[in-house]
Amino acid sequence: MITRLALAWLHLLALVVGLAGVWARGRALSDSLRHPEDPRAIRRALIGDSWWGIAALAWIVTGLWRLLAGTERPPSYYVASHAFLLKMTLFLVVFALEIWPMTTLMRWRRKKLEPNARDVGRIEIISYVECALVALIALVAVTMARGYGAGYVAPVPVVTPAYGAIDSVLRVADSTNRTAKPDSVTAVAEPMAPSGTESVTLEDIALLTREIAMPLDDVDPTTLHSNFTEPRGGGTREHRALDIMASRGTPIHAAASGRVLKLFTSKDGGLMVYAADSSERFVLMYAHLDHYAPALTDSTRLVRGQVIGFVGSTGNASPLAPHLHFAIARSADVKRWSRGNPIDPLPVLVAAKLGVRTISRR
Ligand SMILES: [Zn+2]
Repeated sequence: MITRLALAWLHLLALVVGLAGVWARGRALSDSLRHPEDPRAIRRALIGDSWWGIAALAWIVTGLWRLLAGTERPPSYYVASHAFLLKMTLFLVVFALEIWPMTTLMRWRRKKLEPNARDVGRIEIISYVECALVALIALVAVTMARGYGAGYVAPVPVVTPAYGAIDSVLRVADSTNRTAKPDSVTAVAEPMAPSGTESVTLEDIALLTREIAMPLDDVDPTTLHSNFTEPRGGGTREHRALDIMASRGTPIHAAASGRVLKLFTSKDGGLMVYAADSSERFVLMYAHLDHYAPALTDSTRLVRGQVIGFVGSTGNASPLAPHLHFAIARSADVKRWSRGNPIDPLPVLVAAKLGVRTISRR
């Protein structure tokens, strides 16, 4: 949280400093054109240029950090966002415009080149154009932060702890049954979203809540957003799982005791583990693994918390965004491991974390 705020603040601060720096460079160069005999104008231009350079560096570093570490949203969000692509395009234009002034000013600094009126005039104009572009980038960024220009629907808000979580758990059974799409999915085509006709009862959810634990260390489910209903496959289907961002190689623990049903590899899911819980009512699926835990086989007995593999980006996950795709399905027969009725893992994980042990019908 602190890192996230600090990065957002530094990113914005860099933008302001950079804008001031490049503006100051333009102004100083205008002065130099009017008073070519005054060496202080060029010196001020070089100082403005230094600030512009430092700010640009800080801006890129904080921007990349936020993007790659997924501090705000998963990188897939940005790639799908038109506003983000516009922002990146503008940034590349600024970068391309800056190459010549940057090298020229470096030569002025090293006294390899004397400033002449023609170059001074050109860099002055480029500085003002860059100012306008940076201001435009700020506008696009604000637009993006308001959620405009997103390629897909904004994620469902965080499940609020305590009452909200319990309430969500109570609603899981209802919504899961309502949105079931029987027989719409085959094992090979869509191993990421098992689907079936099995209905989910409140007792199922209560059992699952007692059994389950977060499969990644140091992830607090109350801080995650549900992405269960997000569109996938170009809007042709729902996600029906929980994506948990984590760095590559993070150990993945069995979320419940039971047994491995199938170690499976697919184009979408990459390296996957399908496992049954100990009641054999649920199939738990972990996808995009970098590699399996040594000695894991198709019939390994699992104890909750046991390491089964490591976070990666195999399958259709972006290499820039390693994450665990975690899905749970109510199954009529766990031997048919790719079928079942999907359950949103997040409310169950939240309820488990908060110690909701008994739930009753309202
Ligand atoms: Zn996913």
